[in-house]
Amino acid sequence: DGRPPLIEVAGLSASYGRVAALKPVDLRVGEGEFVTVLGPNGAGKTTLLRAIARLVPGAGRISFRGQDISALPTHKVARLGIVMVQEGRGLFGEMTVRENLLLGAYGLGGAGEEIERRFATVFELFPKLRLRADQIAASMSGGEQQMLAVGRALMAGPQLLMLDEPSLGLAPRVASGILDTLGELNRNGLGILLVEQKAPLALKLAKRVYVLASGSVRAELPADQIGSHHDLARYYFH
Ligand code: ATP
Repeated sequence: DGRPPLIEVAGLSASYGRVAALKPVDLRVGEGEFVTVLGPNGAGKTTLLRAIARLVPGAGRISFRGQDISALPTHKVARLGIVMVQEGRGLFGEMTVRENLLLGAYGLGGAGEEIERRFATVFELFPKLRLRADQIAASMSGGEQQMLAVGRALMAGPQLLMLDEPSLGLAPRVASGILDTLGELNRNGLGILLVEQKAPLALKLAKRVYVLASGSVRAELPADQIGSHHDLARYYFH
């Protein structure tokens, strides 16, 4: 549509010591697009998201709406609205739901109308979080904790929401509830980059899918071209 992509990475690589977790990768998410990265264990999916969020150093170019952000520190990338929901959720277990949510909006300074608006939005999406606002995070179910992790990311006012296997460890019905919420956010215009290992979940909402294996993009496919018969594993091993 003529606009630069929401996020575009070109030749992005990252390593841990001598382990090349991410070989040069090209990928983009357009404005309002829902993109999924699918791949087996150890493919480099987490590293890809962490490199975009600048949580691990990477080489290559990362552009956000046409602006080169590859040299920005993590907090500035976050302030632009590139927000990641980490695998394992990264919640503060001993703090309440409300306190965890507030931490997501730390950039706003703790109080004010905008924070109240964001609380209202999150509570509308996840009514359970409102009911449990004063409950200690660690005492919530896995599904509720994942809602909280997504809610906290929303408190940061994301422009691009990146999620690392939000379905992990959740019952299928609970996972699919979380995905439905992501779909709703996307229909409201939020760009989403989702990392998944389970193909059915990954394909439900995405318009485009990247298959990542051994740190490289093996395929880029429109989601509607991947039927249930499609043998994705053939991209994984070669
Ligand atoms: P999973 O779904 O299992 O989390 P993934 O696709 O997210 O896998 P990454 O976690 O990005 O993959 O890992 C990619 C590679 O980098 C793997 O070989 C992994 O062992 C390695 N790796 C990841 N984190 C580190 C680290 N902190 N130190 C050393 N090697 C790491």
